Amino acid sequence: MVKAGYPFTGLTTIFITHCHSHHVLEFGALLHTAWTAGLDQPVSISGPPEIAAIWRQFCEMMRFEITIRMADEGRIPFATTAKINIIDAKTPDPIQLVDENGLTVSAMRNDHPPVVDSYALRFDAVGKSITFSGDTRYLPSLAGFAKNSDVLVHEAMLAKGLDHVLAKTKTGDERLKNHLLAAHSFAEQAGQIAAVANVGNLVLNHLIPPERDICNDADWQAEAGCSFDGRCSVRHDGMAIEL
Ligand SMILES: [Zn+2]
Ligand SMILES: [Zn+2]
Repeated sequence: MVKAGYPFTGLTTIFITHCHSHHVLEFGALLHTAWTAGLDQPVSISGPPEIAAIWRQFCEMMRFEITIRMADEGRIPFATTAKINIIDAKTPDPIQLVDENGLTVSAMRNDHPPVVDSYALRFDAVGKSITFSGDTRYLPSLAGFAKNSDVLVHEAMLAKGLDHVLAKTKTGDERLKNHLLAAHSFAEQAGQIAAVANVGNLVLNHLIPPERDICNDADWQAEAGCSFDGRCSVRHDGMAIEL
């Protein structure tokens, strides 16, 4: 946020697709850092049911320090900096989370076993739209959800990099491999979604493996390009995406 030029105190809204650790480990820390930087209004947090407990327990974990800062620095009660909105779609159909000031945000349950409460998100504003797949295995209905999006940010893995990931993380049996195959999408499948959805720009994200010396941009683009002949970018920190 800081490198992109956004002040912590301007933070108003956070969307969380699901509660795997690498999607929420820094959630409490982000709000705490914003709070010590002067955040003095609630931030809207939309996420799966587990996010309420994660927030409550983060506040409890930091209670000693938070109590000191409230008394010593005159900070507002830290717990009030998050306004939790639970995303809970009862059916596979999309639900609307936000409709205000020309912005609509929709969520659709994706397919990320064994996590049940996991979502794709779509943002529409000023005639433009961005869809995030979240973490999901190949989910054909995502193409309808992402229909005609200017940008589709889709997770991706490459078959040729899986052995590297498995060797590096040393879990010792087949369970991690089975999880990756059951719960994530190959880049070629992300391309299929992009093609059917007719998106303007496919951005491959949440790369497995992430190391560019194992799979470089050309490797990712070649795989996605098997099924999608539109524009395809590969994520990197700080990248700007044109709409
Ligand atoms: Zn996940
Ligand atoms: Zn993930």
